[in-house]
Amino acid sequence: MTFKHDAVIVGAGLSGLRAAVEISGEADVALISKVYTTRSHSGAAQGGIAAALGNEEPDSWEWHMYDTVKGGDFLSDQDAAEVLAKDGPRVIYELEHMGVPFNRTKEGTIAQRAFGGHTSNLGEAPVKRACYAADRTGRVILDTLYGEALRKGVKIYEEFQLLDLLVEENQVAGIIAYELSSGEVHVFHSRLVLLATGGFGKVYKTTSNCFANTGDGVYYAYRAGVPLQDMEFVQFHPTGIYGLGVLISEAARGEGGILRNRHGERFMEKYAPTLMDLAPRDMVSRAISEEIRAGKGIDGKDYVHLDLTHLGKERLDEKLSEISSFARIYQGVEPETEPIPVQPTCHYMMGGIPTNLDGQVVDENQQVVKGLYAVGECACVSVHGANRLGCNSLMDLLVFGRRAGRKMEQDVQTLPWPTLPLEPEKKVQARIGRLLKNKQGEKAVILRMAMQETMNRFCAVFRSNEGLEKARSEINALIRRYDDIVIDNHGRLFNTDLLEALELESLLHLAEAIICSALARQESRGAHFREDYPERDDANWLKHSLVKMTTAGPRLFYKPVTITRFAAKPRSY
Ligand SMILES: Cc1cc2nc3c(=O)[nH]c(=O)nc-3n(C[C@H](O)[C@H](O)[C@H](O)COP(=O)(O)OP(=O)(O)OC[C@H]3O[C@@H](n4cnc5c(N)ncnc54)[C@H](O)[C@@H]3O)c2cc1C
Repeated sequence: MTFKHDAVIVGAGLSGLRAAVEISGEADVALISKVYTTRSHSGAAQGGIAAALGNEEPDSWEWHMYDTVKGGDFLSDQDAAEVLAKDGPRVIYELEHMGVPFNRTKEGTIAQRAFGGHTSNLGEAPVKRACYAADRTGRVILDTLYGEALRKGVKIYEEFQLLDLLVEENQVAGIIAYELSSGEVHVFHSRLVLLATGGFGKVYKTTSNCFANTGDGVYYAYRAGVPLQDMEFVQFHPTGIYGLGVLISEAARGEGGILRNRHGERFMEKYAPTLMDLAPRDMVSRAISEEIRAGKGIDGKDYVHLDLTHLGKERLDEKLSEISSFARIYQGVEPETEPIPVQPTCHYMMGGIPTNLDGQVVDENQQVVKGLYAVGECACVSVHGANRLGCNSLMDLLVFGRRAGRKMEQDVQTLPWPTLPLEPEKKVQARIGRLLKNKQGEKAVILRMAMQETMNRFCAVFRSNEGLEKARSEINALIRRYDDIVIDNHGRLFNTDLLEALELESLLHLAEAIICSALARQESRGAHFREDYPERDDANWLKHSLVKMTTAGPRLFYKPVTITRFAAKPRSY
C-alpha cells in the first residue's frame, strides 16, 4: 500500500519525537518506529541531561561548551557545541513546563549532579550540571514527549520497519517500510524524511544498547550514497555490568562511586589526578583496560569493582534505585554492602550521518540532500567530536530535534512533491523474497555472533593496524557469506527472524565502515586509541573522516573541523 504524508520521521526516540512535536500542526507528519514508541532506547537513559543552569553551584554555557569540545578531544564542531550549550537551559525549562518530574533541590529548583568531564572554570573541578529524575531520566522525558506527540495528533505507525530510503537526484521521495504484524511492504511517499533511528551498539558483543539499535537509518542513508562521518569514534562506557554489558550509569560515580582494582586501589588517581573517577569515558575505559592488562582486575579476571558502599542506603534508594536493582538482579550483588563488578561496554556512536546545524543531511560536496534530515545518535552534527560527555546526548536530541523540526516546517512550504520511482518497493520485495526462499545455508545468528566477537576483539578500546586488518578481512568474509544465509521462519506474520536477518545486513556494513575509518586514522584521539600511534596528531588528523560506499568498497575522504573559540591543546584531567 502507498501512504502519503508531507513528512515522515523514522524513529520515535527523543530526537524523532521532539522534531515531530515541533512540526505537527504545520504539516501532516507520520512517525514510524520499529518498536513501540516508549520502548525506544532513549527510555533507558539513566543518569541525566546536561545544562548549565547553575542551580547547585556557579556554572556558565561557555564552560559547558568548552568541556564538550575538550571532552570531544577537539574534534567537535564548535558552532554545534555552542548551540548545544547555549540552548541547554531553555530546553530544561521547556521540559519542566511539559511536566517532566525532575529531582529538586531543598529550595525547590531543579537538582543537578556531577558527571564525567563536566567542570567549572575551564577544567578546574567537577561541576554539578546534570539535571535528572533519579536514574530514570530518559524514561520520564520519553513518556512526557510521547504524551505531547499524541496531544498534537502526530500519526504514529508502530512496528513498521524502515527497509529503504528513496533518494533520486539528490532529493528524497520517501521510504519503504515493512509492517511486522502483516508482513506487508509499504511505500511512504513524502516530501521530507527525517532519520532519527538511534545508534548501532549491536555491532559489538558487549553493549549497553537495546536490541533495536542496529543502525538501519544510518545504513540506508549510506546505501543511498550519503557518506558517513567519524565512524571510527565508538564510545565504550566504563561501567557495564561484568559479562552482560548492561549499564551502570555514570550517575553512580557522579554521586561519589569509586572504581577500585584487585588491591582495592582507587586507580583513577593515577590516570586523571584532578577529576579521577569523573574523567571522560574514553580515559576511564582505557584506564580500566590498562589495569586489567596489568593483572590488576579482580581475581586477575577482566573486570574491576565499582564501589558504592559508602553512599548509604538512603542515597542509593533515592537517587540510584534502578541501577541498584540491576546489580541485585544481574549479579546478585547488594550495592549497599558489596562492590559491583564492571567492565567497559560499547555505549554510543559519535559518528553517523553528517548534517548541518538544522539537521539537513549533507553529501560529500557539502551540498544539502533535498528533503533529507537526520538527528540524534544516528546523526553527526558533530557536537561530540571524538568522545561524547555523559548527559550531552539527551541534550543533543532535544536541541537539534527541535531545530530539525523547525527547518522542516519551513521547507515543507516550498519543497515540491517528488515523483516516486517506478515500483519503488520492488528491490525490498526481492531481498525479502530471497531470504524467505533460501532453504540451505548458514544461519544469520552465526554470522552476527562472529561479527560481534570480531569487533570486540579488534576494534574496541585498543586498536592496531594488525588487529584492524584482521577485522577487515573477517567482516568482508562475513559480508560475502551473508548472501547465502537462511532463516527458520518462512511465515508472513510477526516474522522477527526475517527482520533480524535484514538488520544484520545493516550491522555488517556499518562494522566495515567503522573498521575502514579506524584503519586510516593513524593517531589516537578521544575514543579511537591506536596502540601503534598512541599520540594525538593535530598536524595531520584534526579533521573529520567521511566514508562513502562505492562498488569498489568504502572510500575515505576528509573535511575540516569548525573551530571558533578554542584552539586544540593537549588534554589532561
Ligand atoms: C543504557 C543507556 C543509558 C543512557 N543514559 C544516558 C544519559 O543518562 N544521558 C544521556 O545524555 N545519554 C544517555 N544515553 C545515550 C542516549 O540515551 C541515546 O544516545 C539516545 O537516547 C538516542 O536517542 P535517539 O532519539 O537518537 O534514538 P533512540 O532513542 O535510540 O530511538 C531510535 C528509534 O528509531 C527507531 N528505529 C530504528 N531503526 C528503525 C527502522 N529500521 N525502522 C523504523 N524505526 C526504526 C526505533 O524504533 C526507535 O524508536 C544512554 C544510552 C543507553 C544505551
